[in-house]
Amino acid sequence: MKAAVASRAAALERKFQKLGLRSSFDFVLHLPLRYEDETVLTAPQDAIAGKAVLVEARVLRAEVAYRPRRQLVVHAEGLALRFFNFYQSQLKQFQRASEEGLLVRAFGEVRAGWFGAEMAHPRYRIVRAGEPLPASLTPIYPATAGVGQAVLRARILEELDAADLQDTLPEALRRKHELAAFAGSVELLHRPRPGAEMSAAWRRVKFDELLAQQLSMRFAYRRRRSRAAPVLKLNGALLKRFLSALPFALTRAQTRAMNEILRDLREPHPMQRLLQGDVGSGKTIVAAIACLAAVDSGTQAAVMAPTEILSEQHRRKFSEWLEPLGVRLGYLRGGMGKKEKSEMLEARVLIGTHALIQEDVEFSRLGLVVVDEQHRFGVEQRLALRKKAAASTRGLASPAAVPHQLMMSATPIPRTLSMTYFADLDVSTLDEMPPGRRAVTTKLLSDKRRPEVLARIREACAEGQQAYWVCPVIEESKAGLSTALKTYEVLKKELSGLRVELLHGRMPAAEKAATLRGFLQHRIQVLVATTVIEVGVDVPNASLMVIESAERFGLAQLHQLRGRIGRGARASVCILLYGELQGNARERLKVIFESADGFEIARKDLELRGPGEFLGERQSGAPLLRFADLERDKDLVEAAVQAAAGLIDADPRAARAHVERWLGSRQELTHA
Ligand code: ADP
Ligand code: MG
Repeated sequence: MKAAVASRAAALERKFQKLGLRSSFDFVLHLPLRYEDETVLTAPQDAIAGKAVLVEARVLRAEVAYRPRRQLVVHAEGLALRFFNFYQSQLKQFQRASEEGLLVRAFGEVRAGWFGAEMAHPRYRIVRAGEPLPASLTPIYPATAGVGQAVLRARILEELDAADLQDTLPEALRRKHELAAFAGSVELLHRPRPGAEMSAAWRRVKFDELLAQQLSMRFAYRRRRSRAAPVLKLNGALLKRFLSALPFALTRAQTRAMNEILRDLREPHPMQRLLQGDVGSGKTIVAAIACLAAVDSGTQAAVMAPTEILSEQHRRKFSEWLEPLGVRLGYLRGGMGKKEKSEMLEARVLIGTHALIQEDVEFSRLGLVVVDEQHRFGVEQRLALRKKAAASTRGLASPAAVPHQLMMSATPIPRTLSMTYFADLDVSTLDEMPPGRRAVTTKLLSDKRRPEVLARIREACAEGQQAYWVCPVIEESKAGLSTALKTYEVLKKELSGLRVELLHGRMPAAEKAATLRGFLQHRIQVLVATTVIEVGVDVPNASLMVIESAERFGLAQLHQLRGRIGRGARASVCILLYGELQGNARERLKVIFESADGFEIARKDLELRGPGEFLGERQSGAPLLRFADLERDKDLVEAAVQAAAGLIDADPRAARAHVERWLGSRQELTHA
């Protein structure tokens, strides 16, 4: 008996854990999803359709019925309850209730059934006649299968009463932001009082959550920033020489970002900067200048890109820009031999994919790490890179030093999101495109109009232009999906006479590189590709892009893809072919059709998908928000950002205590 009780308790504990409930504070912060009004009883015949009410009736008998399907039917006075999924224990419970003349108090919607008033799987409790009704609203908690509301609620209230809910925020801060007391707020949310206004309590909880997130990122930033880093200086004459050899002048935004970066690099502490800018805004050259500073100061620089295609392209650009100045470049690929690798590692600037973070790669005097399209890397890869970087500073003046870090991202992050999720980075933004870009015209066409599209491609190619044809998947996976392989076969026939080639992620690296080179050198006219070309590919002569089954791509992805064209002097066209539009697909495609502004698109994307999906698990790293909503609670976000900045200096102990309360043992993962 004892053992059974213990194992049931353990099972319950496991279920709580599934809900993320471990520490007593977890329970305190397990806040209701909503409240139900069980303060008044309604007679079954008075219930209004569509509105949940509390009814009470004497239990007459309970039975299992099999038609139309297996269900527990509880006959009560003037009311039947039906449960399609039920436990045997429930049947017994109702049978006992009928024997003892007890009542069922059920909350839910009452409907007119064949034999009178009915409720389907209501929330219920067995009560004695005359048991008082609750005086206030009933909180309904997020729950998981097998944990009843009553059990959960009882446990939460127990923890609430036992917990130390002392305010972590100094009085002055609370007054300044007009915040309710913490203890009173959670108390009210769990035990609502009749007529009490709960918005101030929610506001306090959301503020605390945002503040904890801000503070934890700032602490992480400071911890990293407190370490030593090599001082990297770029000789002015060398920079001048570099810039004057370029076929273009830097945009104002590029110059500003460059100066911000060069200023950071001169500090004896590691830079942790994000360089963000829409596709085509010219981030690469800024990164190259940072690398030049590293080299000029006698250290090594590493540039990591998420795909071979992209790192191959960087190699071309960097060699064009840096080799004339005598900078030795190295290129690391997966599967390289040991000898080749160690030769490469002698170079001053090393470019590669995550081959750069493999175990046997040993940098020496690593002064700067650049991560391109950083959101493409998983949290783990970023951690590996950080570890590798920290271990790769042998030969530097201070062996404990860590390299500077420059992250780059073309995913425009809406302001509120970047304030919250990138609080552990300094941010430079390229908000200006290089001159001479032509806007890309976007067309939305049903895939029934494919013949017109083919004619269009022929026309463009006849004029010496090139085209991308983008498909969503590589191989046939589910029935009916168009695939790159199949599309390629079909297009080769449909576009006979044109040089059509295929590029996808599962091709061997060398083949990929060769194909891309072929496209770049105009030997290929139509490149059928998967989203491998999404990041970074830069072929200015390609002015036409067709995206097949466009409805199946994410908005950010479509924007990135479209960013591959409109890079040359010619007017470019992006044709979005769509099949069947379901859900909000039409709305999403409309966003792409109407806007060319990456930030605007990102904002809409965020609205349509929410921050979790928007950032993706890979990108977020930092824990997502449970209570605050970045859009709806914009003002609170601003307030929390401001408060965090003040508190961390004015009262670091309070700041620490606040983070500990909110994040507790939860792992702190931040971006760098
Ligand atoms: P992204 O920010 O998407 O990484 P890139 O660095 O690939 O953009 O730059 C896109 C293209 O613009 C490249 O061909 C690059 O050489 C060119 N470019 C960069 N800066 C300028 C500039 N200031 N003026 C003209 N072209 C530029
Ligand atoms: Mg790029």
